[in-house]
Amino acid sequence: MSLPSKKQSLQRPKGTQDIFGEVMAQWHHVERIAHKLFGRFGYQEIRTPCFESTDLFLRGVGETTDIVNKEMYTFEKGDRSLTLRPEGTAGLARAFIEQGMSRWAKPVKLYYMGAMFRYERPQAGRQRQFHQVGMELYGMDTPAADAEVIFMAIMLFKQLGLPGLTLKINNIGTPSDREQFKADLKQHLKPVLPNLCEDCQTRYAQNPLRLLDCKQDSCKAHYQEPAIKTFLETDFTGAASQADFNTLLDTLDKLGIPYQRDPYLVRGLDYYTKMVFEITSSHLGAQNTVCGGGRYNELVEELGGSATPACGWAVGLERLVSLIAKTTIPVPDYYIVTDCHAEALMLATEIHQCGFSAEVDLSQKAFGKQLEKAFKVNARQVILLGEADAKQDQLTCKNVVTAEQSTLSRQQFLEQLKKSC
Ligand code: ATP
Ligand code: MG
Repeated sequence: MSLPSKKQSLQRPKGTQDIFGEVMAQWHHVERIAHKLFGRFGYQEIRTPCFESTDLFLRGVGETTDIVNKEMYTFEKGDRSLTLRPEGTAGLARAFIEQGMSRWAKPVKLYYMGAMFRYERPQAGRQRQFHQVGMELYGMDTPAADAEVIFMAIMLFKQLGLPGLTLKINNIGTPSDREQFKADLKQHLKPVLPNLCEDCQTRYAQNPLRLLDCKQDSCKAHYQEPAIKTFLETDFTGAASQADFNTLLDTLDKLGIPYQRDPYLVRGLDYYTKMVFEITSSHLGAQNTVCGGGRYNELVEELGGSATPACGWAVGLERLVSLIAKTTIPVPDYYIVTDCHAEALMLATEIHQCGFSAEVDLSQKAFGKQLEKAFKVNARQVILLGEADAKQDQLTCKNVVTAEQSTLSRQQFLEQLKKSC
């Protein structure tokens, strides 16, 4: 491996981002709201590895999916094939089995946040390293569980004040419901097969349901042809799937959650059963899906666990963050100008305990220079803590706007602070 010359500047890999400054403040805002929402509904956070055995994704995501066929970052180490996780659900299901969570009280409610990796063509809303927040509910196959899962996605977006969202929902039945449908679908599409894109040719042979997931307008146009359209829009699912789906829609109506039924919605991954949904935003460009989810009753068993129904969703954080109003970087409530740093750090901690933010100037420069810095970071208040003050256990508090200042004992200052919060 040859090293670049020292002068050559190094750049981040294509399709990745440095997240910092105001955008980071937006991420924190989203993450805080998500942690709170999940916690209140009884979901536990889980952190699984960023890489897993390649087999997990072959079996858990499906060998005929775009993710497995084209998008995985796979590498060999020793005699093992490992893959950077392209999504979170397979890893969580693996952990569910490995950690014996099937013995926990049902339902087992988990959520996660973290980086995912897919080798895709980078463009607006599509990176090679991106982040997802997602939730999974294991051990219950009820429309009530489906409804909670969708409700929580909607609540997350509501609490973030997101505009222009549409919930699209479909029932794709059980794998046995789908067998006949797949054969009939192939029959209906046979005449137009030569006109479909290259990927669709493969899908036709390997996993015909996913023909409906194609994003090419030229392919999608064929599904609007009357005979194909009528076929696609006829419900092929069995009575049990239909009954659960209708109860779910009824619950969404009662919750006042508007939705569009979309018979073309199948989702990209193989493991879905019964209800699937996506939430799109009219404020995003071509990559307009912010959330994708559904039920996957076969997944845990497919990965070697005991049969366990499950449902959940994942939200793309980059797309979500791009939808929320700009948040400003938080400014410190107090900026401590000082030449005795140990005392200043102790004071900052006491201020934090009262619920305020406080930063200590670490420059060891003259107080005038430190005051300039306090103005620069837009601190709301400045505290002057000189060595002599510290000895007498007092400090001077200066209002940045009015320039008024008063000297008081540290005790008095902290008492005032406690009263004001
Ligand atoms: P898309 O149709 O946009 O490729 P997908 O069906 O592949 O999405 P999922 O696997 O359902 O996506 O992932 C859930 C969410 O993660 C998506 O709705 C999207 O918000 C986000 N996401 C997926 N792939 C990327 C990516 N490459 N870059 C940024 N966000 C992504
Ligand atoms: Mg994709």
